[in-house]
Amino acid sequence: MPGEFDIIRRYFAPAAQAAPTVKLGLGDDCALVHAPGATELLAISTDTLVEGVHFLADIDPEDLAWRLLGSAVSDLAAMGAKPLWLTLAITLPDADESWLESFQKGLTASTEAYSITLVGGDTTSGNTRVLTAQVHGSVSSEQALTRSGAQPRDFIYVSGYLGDSRAGLELLSHSDKQTQDSAYLLQRFLRPSPRLALGRGLRGLATAAIDISDGLLADLTHILESSGLGADIDIQALPISHELQNFCGEAQARQWAATGGEDFELCFTVPSNKKTEVETLAATLGLNLSLIGKTRSGSGLNTLYAGDLWISETLSGFDHFGDK
Ligand code: ADP
Ligand code: MG
Repeated sequence: MPGEFDIIRRYFAPAAQAAPTVKLGLGDDCALVHAPGATELLAISTDTLVEGVHFLADIDPEDLAWRLLGSAVSDLAAMGAKPLWLTLAITLPDADESWLESFQKGLTASTEAYSITLVGGDTTSGNTRVLTAQVHGSVSSEQALTRSGAQPRDFIYVSGYLGDSRAGLELLSHSDKQTQDSAYLLQRFLRPSPRLALGRGLRGLATAAIDISDGLLADLTHILESSGLGADIDIQALPISHELQNFCGEAQARQWAATGGEDFELCFTVPSNKKTEVETLAATLGLNLSLIGKTRSGSGLNTLYAGDLWISETLSGFDHFGDK
């Protein structure tokens, strides 16, 4: 059976023919298109959440709205784009008004928080709740952050802390594991923080960027494949929160930081002589930016721990049609 990315490549990509208005089609966090007459490019991305796959049936609908918007807007952040418009397609088993009231609260608050405006959508009934957000943003052609611009010997950074979201998911599915840090970890899963200000700050500084949705190793591999490079990263340099370490111990925390996914932090590459600029940006934003490794010519991602090769439980990241 083909994996998620094989399906896209074989069955959908053939319809994505080159067109003069399309600067960047399939294969990045957003497509970049020229809207006729506009000076800036439009950045477009779609994200879907399916009940039973991405969220449990009893999720607070207000959190669900925040999670949907957070994951969708994160792709705009990864391109350095400014959010503009949102369309929402929603399939619901019934018109439960208390559910809808609560969803509305999260939708209104999150669209306000990310300065994005709902301009349309589609509402249908169906057995399973499915929510699709399409987001549109703008970015200038010269400043868009793509996955393909990394150069050999660039420094590789990640923002924030990794693995928290994976622990939040664990807490949702195992209510017996609650600890004093549960609220923080749950929040990191339910209400991710798309790094819009960081994406903007990286314009003209980063050579490539991606948001971490499938797991750091999988997403960094996308940058490396798009840029035609390899890299070495230091697993000990991965940023791990105290809360995560207290929750599951260092070894598990490291695994989740490397492969957990859905952190919606940014992973980006920067020329090595721009280290001070990254440090200044981190101070300005009050955001942790960790140097985790370096790109090199060639291919492949080496994960090192105290100088030795480190083996993760799963290198591949999340694939909807991959081995379960
Ligand atoms: P992300 O995690 O950044 O949202 P994905 O991993 O979901 O990106 O998708 C990878 C690339 O494949 C993106 O450029 C996306 O637009 C494209 N893609 C995914 N599914 C489809 C589809 N059904 N048709 C066309 N393009 C798709
Ligand atoms: Mg993405």
